[in-house]
Amino acid sequence: MPQNLLDFDLEGLTAWFTELGEKPFRARQVFHWVHQAGVADFAQMTDIAKSLREKLQQHATVTPPAVNFAHTSADGTRKWLFDVGVANGIETVFIPEEDRGTLCVSSQVGCALECTFCSTGRQGFNRNLTVAEIIGQLWVAHHGLRGEVNRTTGEISDRPVTNVVMMGMGEPLANLENVVTALDIMLDDHAYGLSRRRVTVSTSGLVPAMDRLAERCPVALAVSLHAPNDALRDQIVPINKKYPLTELMAACRRYLVHAPRDFITFEYVMLAGVNDSAEHARQLVELARAVPCKFNLIPFNPFPDSGYEKPRAEAMRIFREILQDAGYVVTTRKTRGDDIDAACGQLAGKVADKSGRVMKRIHKEAA
Ligand code: SAH
Ligand code: SF4
Repeated sequence: MPQNLLDFDLEGLTAWFTELGEKPFRARQVFHWVHQAGVADFAQMTDIAKSLREKLQQHATVTPPAVNFAHTSADGTRKWLFDVGVANGIETVFIPEEDRGTLCVSSQVGCALECTFCSTGRQGFNRNLTVAEIIGQLWVAHHGLRGEVNRTTGEISDRPVTNVVMMGMGEPLANLENVVTALDIMLDDHAYGLSRRRVTVSTSGLVPAMDRLAERCPVALAVSLHAPNDALRDQIVPINKKYPLTELMAACRRYLVHAPRDFITFEYVMLAGVNDSAEHARQLVELARAVPCKFNLIPFNPFPDSGYEKPRAEAMRIFREILQDAGYVVTTRKTRGDDIDAACGQLAGKVADKSGRVMKRIHKEAA
């Protein structure tokens, strides 16, 4: 099997080149070609000796996941569906704004954590994405969008993707090794050179993995809180039973020692009648006192048979004001790309559940 070079960060590629009997600076040259120039064909790497190009053609490829389709929304939001094997698909979304371009990247096919309001969680888990499949999403988006006119600004950008959020399908910290290698490539000046502050990992709260991320590759962190007390969080974010709120809050504080930003972003999906009351907001104010943070309120994105409803605008307003009056910075996620189902939590893709959990759950529910 030829080696997919998208699986390597620069260190890995250098080691692989050494095995091949090649010098480290050759690895760096190829790394530039692949990630900065977006070239997948070794024949086009013109400053590489012909003998090495031939060797690479024999032993290596540069293969991102195949694009099944790409859609552009009226507001410029772009969505790709990638084919990642039999009956499986993952999604990636690009959101252009005036001062930035954000790419929402997936980390797993499905997710095993079963948050009750999440379409991915409902579909079950198939497998972790490889490094090539994770960085391949950025590779396809970045090089595909370069030279295009940004619909928001009217400009042609050489660096369309300025921010990455690991908020697509899957729990990034449940695929830590591959995610860390992909993050290394995103941050590397020899590749995309993204700032640590502009790369965000979103987690539902895998406490030990939060500590490992802090050691290995501290980037901005978003934590999916969604409930202000353990009783409610146990129900809607089941991983809370393993890592309850006191532990999660302590892990957030430890993370901030290493983080490139001096706050954690708490995500809070607003579910009508479930977690969106004024009392919930007041509990949240108390809970969050322990951690320097900002809040991102996300109106629930409905999907068929979810059993949940979007919050009323009035409930959102009251909730937001309680947090703001307590001194917190609160953003409310805009719904972008609605017409192409590119909104958060709708990055459903297609998951062939390998764990059998979906069938188990259906049986359980039937019983
Ligand atoms: N697994 C990670 C990252 C992927 S989900 C995590 O849970 O943080 C990215 C964000 O979308 C999370 O905050 C998640 O809770 C939220 N989300 C999931 N389903 C949603 C839905 N139907 N409506 C709105 N937000 C949703
Ligand atoms: Fe997994 Fe995140 Fe969805 Fe929860 S919200 S099921 S952790 S993808």
